[in-house]
Amino acid sequence: MENFNQQIQVRKSGANILRKPSIKEVEPAIVVNNLTASYGDHHVIREVSVEIMRNHVTAIIGPSGCGKSTLLRCLNRLHETVPTAKVKGVVAFNGSSIYDQHTNAIEVRRQIGMVFQRPTPFPTMSIRDNVAAGLRVLDDPPKGKEIDEIVEMALKRSGLWTEVRDRLKESAIGLSGGQQQRLCIARAIATRPSVLLMDEPTASLDPISTQKIETLIDELREDMTIVIVTHNMQQAARVSDHTIFMLNGELVESSATPIIFASPKDPRTEAYVTGRFG
Ligand code: ADP
Ligand code: MG
Repeated sequence: MENFNQQIQVRKSGANILRKPSIKEVEPAIVVNNLTASYGDHHVIREVSVEIMRNHVTAIIGPSGCGKSTLLRCLNRLHETVPTAKVKGVVAFNGSSIYDQHTNAIEVRRQIGMVFQRPTPFPTMSIRDNVAAGLRVLDDPPKGKEIDEIVEMALKRSGLWTEVRDRLKESAIGLSGGQQQRLCIARAIATRPSVLLMDEPTASLDPISTQKIETLIDELREDMTIVIVTHNMQQAARVSDHTIFMLNGELVESSATPIIFASPKDPRTEAYVTGRFG
């Protein structure tokens, strides 16, 4: 009953999509209900329902092409930027449907940020301007010194500050791959999203850079909800609280990470996590 009341509270306050959680809460930040996503006539996500818990790290695993990236992109309305893409069903963030006709997609993406597999710094911009890039589109954009403070905050949180503080005006292209990825994380968190979606963020990185990103995820989870797609099962086991296993566009199992890896309910999950798949 208590849980039920809490949920009602979330729904009510969720009418304001700008609400930022201040304490560790045990309600879902995102509720996906009966989501179907397609490219043209090709349904690649089929009737997926799942809850993404607030302040948890959720891993999405599954074989290549099963729809992990598409599901992730449906969570912040990036999917619809593909011309033939369609989406049906509900994605509710803090209780409000992000696909509601009155909801602004740009604002959804500010609240639910994203980091991609390949670092995507803007090549013509300085390190500082890369981090500040998302601030310009805010309703009340920060100016001058305020921008510098936010850039410093974001670079500190992404663990890059001491490495780049003396070269903020230099091009971001001079950074290593791992540094570029942490720069992209800094850019994503500069606008203070409450959810961060990461699509195989370490797939192109060496083991040391990978470890830095994993440490960073562990720190960010303090006040953020994180969803990470990964091909690396050890990584899912290391960084996540909760794991979603997908197959052919369907959700097979969504459970606490130790359950998925030690005693999954579905034999297909077990086959996948033990490497006996296909
Ligand atoms: P995963 O991230 O698990 O590898 P994706 O979500 O990228 O899977 O892809 C799921 C399916 O959707 C695949 O069959 C893929 O070929 C298809 N797909 C992905 N992106 C596009 C696109 N832009 N246009 C058409 N089909 C796509
Ligand atoms: Mg993918």
